[in-house]
Amino acid sequence: MELNLTNLQTNQPQSHTKIEDVIVLGAGPAGLSAALYAARAELSPLVLTGMSLGGQASLTHSIENYPGFPDGVGGSELGELFQKQAERFGARYEYDSVTDVDFSKHPFIIKTYSQEFKTRSVIISTGASPNLLNIPGEKSLTGRGVSYCGTCDGWFFKEKKVVVVGGGDSALEEGLFLTRFASSVTVIHRRDQLRAGKILQTRAADNPKMNFIWNSVVKEIQGEAAVTGVVLENVLTGEQSVFPTDGVFVFIGHTPNTEMFRNKVDMDEHGYIFANSKMETSRPGIFAAGEVMDSTFKQVVVSAGMGAAAAIQATRFLEENE
Ligand code: NAP
Repeated sequence: MELNLTNLQTNQPQSHTKIEDVIVLGAGPAGLSAALYAARAELSPLVLTGMSLGGQASLTHSIENYPGFPDGVGGSELGELFQKQAERFGARYEYDSVTDVDFSKHPFIIKTYSQEFKTRSVIISTGASPNLLNIPGEKSLTGRGVSYCGTCDGWFFKEKKVVVVGGGDSALEEGLFLTRFASSVTVIHRRDQLRAGKILQTRAADNPKMNFIWNSVVKEIQGEAAVTGVVLENVLTGEQSVFPTDGVFVFIGHTPNTEMFRNKVDMDEHGYIFANSKMETSRPGIFAAGEVMDSTFKQVVVSAGMGAAAAIQATRFLEENE
């Protein structure tokens, strides 16, 4: 990689003189699949991974619905397999986070904390982040009993009581995983019907450690050094009560990580990037794949497919604009 070394002594990012064919932003299933396809098209893609490799899927204990793995596969294991496969064909990885992009001129400019890249095409696959409850106690007790990842933190709750907030697939899947450690897992849902799919609902109903509190929202998380309880409000009666717990796991959906691209490509009011069936955004040469543009499916296999499609289309774009 060619570096402009003149800026090494300053706070300016190092500017690479080479113009890349394709830079992939993010290393979840969409980004790593895009890297694989771009690598096999001999584009030698550069993947700017961000903080972690494998995306949200890597935080899942076991993925049971990714085709080709009849016995399931660990989330982080699947991410490593994606990474190795793309690397085998020439994908390159920089473990760096993007801080700014300039899509107004071609080649496009991508800045990270320490480097500046030029590229003929970009695949945006920066994924999504878990939503917060935004209630008193949540921020101060994060890491002290408040968590957004059962697979990561479940072990800390051996024989403890935990609550799970949310009624979707994530809440039930992670809640079921937490029953391996916790003495009880209580799902707190704001309605009296779950959003989660039938298989998970049945598994949860059959698990003796799983309990449900319906029509209730968490108004506050209590505790000083660690979580001691949650203040619940029944949405039908307005009645408030304190429910003692050692842990609060929040699974109330996600927000796409697209703030950096606002006003640079078109997106909806929730921040999902508009991309057509060819993964093309409003800006020619910029493609989007995975949860940055998918508010509907949010499945590993769908994101991976979108990443492949984005790379195929980026390859065509480069050929047409040679
Ligand atoms: P989700 O499907 O959007 O569910 C979010 C849940 O949180 C809903 O039950 C929602 O309640 C509740 N909620 C939202 N905001 C809330 C708030 N402020 N306070 C209290 N509750 C709130 O999100 P997800 O469960 O993370 O799933 C995201 C996507 O990934 C889905 O498409 C899902 O199918 C997929 N997924 C699939 C699997 C799998 O296939 N095994 C596993 C995990 C996720 P309402 O129901 O009332 O809206």
